[in-house]
Amino acid sequence: MGGNRTCMQCGTSLVTDDIAIYMKLVSRTAQRYKCIDCLGEQLNCGREPIEKLIRYFRESGICVLFR
Ligand SMILES: [Zn+2]
Repeated sequence: MGGNRTCMQCGTSLVTDDIAIYMKLVSRTAQRYKCIDCLGEQLNCGREPIEKLIRYFRESGICVLFR
């Protein structure tokens, strides 16, 4: 992956899952990312549904971004 590994909004450092879910929900080709707190804010859903999605994608194994 590479690129900027910090949240573009609050500057917190990101883990692989943060980046993967951002790519999944916002843009596959994103060069900059947001942490799940800021992404939840952007999507007006909060971080909880995003954490559930991360868990779902990881457990289902269907998404190549979560392996
Ligand atoms: Zn953030």
